[in-house]
Amino acid sequence: MSRPAVLLDRDGTLNESPKEYITSVDDFVPIPGAFEAVGRLCRAGWPVVLATNQSCIGRGIATREEVDRVHAECARIAAESGGSFEGFHVCPHAPDEGCACRKPLPGLLLEAASEHDYDLFRSFVIGDSLRDLVAGRSAGATSLLVLTGHGREARAEHPERLTFETVVEAIDWILSRA
Ligand SMILES: [Mg+2]
Repeated sequence: MSRPAVLLDRDGTLNESPKEYITSVDDFVPIPGAFEAVGRLCRAGWPVVLATNQSCIGRGIATREEVDRVHAECARIAAESGGSFEGFHVCPHAPDEGCACRKPLPGLLLEAASEHDYDLFRSFVIGDSLRDLVAGRSAGATSLLVLTGHGREARAEHPERLTFETVVEAIDWILSRA
């Protein structure tokens, strides 16, 4: 049976928004409390996946292997809090490649749902950009905006009902509803 899940954006949501792109683990700075919150979600039985646009691959700025190493670091940090990601779903394409997976299109979320058997209509998408929210909504999920990363700009452009200071508050809100 399909399960509800939490699908997390990466940059600006779980870790500080990079100036350009994160091409090595050294550039990866977790937002305080973010991975502990992921651990709480997992321990409460929620499947968690990461869904991230990494056009740095398509632009030739980073290799897939470099991006995978950053995700291995995410897995390591999450494990310290008893958390794990069921998958790391990456759109590697540059914006002009015309793919179906780059957020705000819902392809990446649909791919995650199909691979892990998620019921998107009962799932949550958390992100700091309007494109995360639009992708989540198009996929049928409930979108939560966080004010880290690009979140304040996103809120100024398009006020959202479900807005939280950081991913910590967003996750605790999901946990409080159960
Ligand atoms: Mg982001």
